[in-house]
Amino acid sequence: MTDLEKRSDRSPVPADWTYAPAPESTDIVRLQERYGLYVGGEWLDTKEHFATIAPRDESPLAEVAQASGADVQNAVAAAREAFGSWSKLPGSERAKYLFRIARILAERSREFAVLESLNGGKPIKESRDVDLPLAAAHFFYYAGWADKLEYAFPNRSPKPLGVAGQIIPWNFPLLMLAWKIAPALAAGNTVVLKPAETTPLTALLFCDVVRQAELPPGVVNIVTGDGSTGAALVESEVDKIAFTGSTDVGKAIQRRLAGSGKKVTLELGGKAANIVFDDCALDQAVEGIVNGIYFNQGHVCCAGSRLFVQESIYEPVVEKLKKRMTTLRVGDPLDKNTDVGAINSRMQLEKIEELVAAGKEEGAEIYQPPCRLPEKGYWFAPTVFTNVAQSYRIAQEEIFGPVLSVLTFRTPDEAVEKANNTPYGLSAGVWTEKGSRILWMAERLRAGVVWANTFNRFDPTSPFGGYKESGFGREGGLHGMEPYLDFE
Ligand code: NDP
Repeated sequence: MTDLEKRSDRSPVPADWTYAPAPESTDIVRLQERYGLYVGGEWLDTKEHFATIAPRDESPLAEVAQASGADVQNAVAAAREAFGSWSKLPGSERAKYLFRIARILAERSREFAVLESLNGGKPIKESRDVDLPLAAAHFFYYAGWADKLEYAFPNRSPKPLGVAGQIIPWNFPLLMLAWKIAPALAAGNTVVLKPAETTPLTALLFCDVVRQAELPPGVVNIVTGDGSTGAALVESEVDKIAFTGSTDVGKAIQRRLAGSGKKVTLELGGKAANIVFDDCALDQAVEGIVNGIYFNQGHVCCAGSRLFVQESIYEPVVEKLKKRMTTLRVGDPLDKNTDVGAINSRMQLEKIEELVAAGKEEGAEIYQPPCRLPEKGYWFAPTVFTNVAQSYRIAQEEIFGPVLSVLTFRTPDEAVEKANNTPYGLSAGVWTEKGSRILWMAERLRAGVVWANTFNRFDPTSPFGGYKESGFGREGGLHGMEPYLDFE
């Protein structure tokens, strides 16, 4: 007890420094009881529906339409009809719509952020400060290219493809929608997008932005449903499929589309190496490790889930990491102080539990900071495994949860060899004060993105995508526009 506290019972100094709850109000979100499909600028009802819930307490939020194969075909036909006039608009006119969407997203960002956290489980400070600003930034960025395609791809006569079928996952529902829709529309295509089964609500709210922006009917169509709806979209008469999700489904889509003439881009899983050298700024690196794996509960394809620490600093790094983990606040996604929110679904929670059990079984040492998890909903404490061998499942498979595996290395060559020892190749991080070493490592790491002295940084101008089983094609930057264009 401090001297001040001893002197008075009414001391202004709290005895306990835990945070008081700081819940964000949900009043701003007006949910409908039931949603249809957004096709040709209208809401269409379907025969079947399913419930979408809040992972923080499993409470039902709304009923959502299950699109059948015929519904998907109908949406593709609406997109095809709209393509004729949309693709003929001057780029400067298309840009106006995209700028409008960007501006409306920014204006309604609080509403979207609350809904994203409610339906997906991610902390409000992430949806508010990362997902929403980035989603709006993608529309702003691609709006700028819409009338400059001839300059962006000189002497190549860029032309839109037609109708793009887009299938997105549940980890960044609105941001993935923006990554897909913004470049497609800027290039002059129309789209049919299927959001993930567990997180359809921000995509459905986006339809209201489309309406507000007065986008011509049929340019953006949203069909909700499960995997069978996604499969129907792959089968349909689209000109391109853009998919983000698991490697297994990505492979199935590639097999299905082989020889069809349809274009395809796949953004799949990852098992990123975050590599810490002994000359790095240690505290900064520990922050980067925490951000790399516990951001969005680790539901991140480029999460830094394999930590490689140079042997000489192994002990201080692990000690600082564990200490930092004790300060992470796990709980209500809508609390502004929450660092780690709810796991997206029961299915995902079970997958994380299974892989963590395998890690223990194989002989790794587990550490979880003391934290009280809410009784209802889906939760998993931030976890770190030490004593991990490269062959363990937790070092090989994508866990897609807040679970880190720590391994060691002695030399830069060894770090590269171990980091590349994975079927994936999406991202990597390097922590060192030597610029020359960063470049040396970046040249050798087989990963689409290599961050230096930072992690999980995104920008619409910067292309993102993988090698090997992490897929192919790029999203973001001019590279992200190219797969939506045909060239002579
Ligand atoms: P999926 O690949 O199953 O889902 C991604 C999207 O594809 C969803 O919209 C899904 O619909 C749809 N889909 C499912 N089956 C098919 C199909 N046969 N044809 C076409 N579309 C289909 O991933 P999950 O969401 O089930 O997640 C499982 C794992 O995938 C995670 O644990 C993680 O490892 C990885 N993943 C990787 C992501 C990344 O960004 N790279 C993102 C999300 C997941 P529905 O939601 O209805 O199943």
